[in-house]
Amino acid sequence: MRIELDKLEEFGGKFSRVYGINQLSLDDREVRLIDPALVHGRIKRSGNEVELSGELTASIEAPCGRCLQPVRLPIHSEFAERFVPAVSWRAEEQHELHEEDLNLAVFDGEAIDLEDVVREEILLALPGHILCSEDCKGLCPICGIDRNVSSCQCENKMIDSRWNKLKELRT
Ligand SMILES: [Zn+2]
Ligand SMILES: [Zn+2]
Repeated sequence: MRIELDKLEEFGGKFSRVYGINQLSLDDREVRLIDPALVHGRIKRSGNEVELSGELTASIEAPCGRCLQPVRLPIHSEFAERFVPAVSWRAEEQHELHEEDLNLAVFDGEAIDLEDVVREEILLALPGHILCSEDCKGLCPICGIDRNVSSCQCENKMIDSRWNKLKELRT
């Protein structure tokens, strides 16, 4: 959904939208939406700038960083982003970035693509390390077995072979 700035007054500066599972493609291939994403908020125009703020809820599925099993994660984020038209952004000679400008985005001056905002907010809301559980044992680096489900003797064999080499050295 593109929010046309000309039409802002028609809907009183408010927006709300539901993105179905197949309506929103996330750039990250490992992350997918498993519940529709709900977004609502307000959009305010002041001069050339546009301020978009709102709330987003969704559920995503992503692989566990250790065992690669899919993990479901609820997403809830409140966001506020400022948009400046690309033209005026480039026209200014120098941009000193302040902390408050980190949420500054550039747009074409006519419409804001809500889908981009939603996509970005979902990816930002993801934790740095996605784990199925804090004590996930992960995959065996040697045979690839899921150590949460079964076990293997790879590590014992490793220790054995090191031990044998040590014994060989001694004799
Ligand atoms: Zn895991
Ligand atoms: Zn193994």
